[in-house]
Amino acid sequence: MSTSTPWMIAFLILFALIMLSRAGYANPPGMKAPWPGGITFQVNQGNFGYISHNDPHTFYAWDFDLPLGTPVVAVANGTIAVTGYRNDGYGNRIQIRHVNRAYSLYAHLESFLVAPGENVWQGQIIGYSGNTGYTGGPHLHFSIIDKENYSLPSIFSDIGEPVEGQCCTSQNWFVGRVVCNPRSV
Ligand SMILES: [Zn+2]
Repeated sequence: MSTSTPWMIAFLILFALIMLSRAGYANPPGMKAPWPGGITFQVNQGNFGYISHNDPHTFYAWDFDLPLGTPVVAVANGTIAVTGYRNDGYGNRIQIRHVNRAYSLYAHLESFLVAPGENVWQGQIIGYSGNTGYTGGPHLHFSIIDKENYSLPSIFSDIGEPVEGQCCTSQNWFVGRVVCNPRSV
């Protein structure tokens, strides 16, 4: 056994642990906070929150304290799958389908700027936060869900896995995706 073997084993174990810890997340790659960059909001209720994140549809949801009329932006590129009001507690909601086949859900919205079938960019404003559905006040309910509306564990690339009470500063900039091609001189 060479002297480097224990290091190789340690490295492989570490690598396996990192891969295992990542395997549990269902978010689209590089998902960022659902409001424009530079703005900070607090988590009113986190994953498994006792107030209302207590069934399989909501276990992995967050409530962020966005005031009425705050721009809500796409957490990643995708296609609008659902917009509209339903009497199921979420009120006005948007669902975006992402490249990894998971959906992001934005609930209790005031209004929409998008319609089903539209492609949206990460950071694009899709609507405005509100107080529709079952709420105790204006906020944004957000989670990653599957096509049966069950919530899935997820992590943000900018704000991590927020917990109740935490203040989160988005790095998700609004983009119109202006492309600039530098010219050689
Ligand atoms: Zn919620």
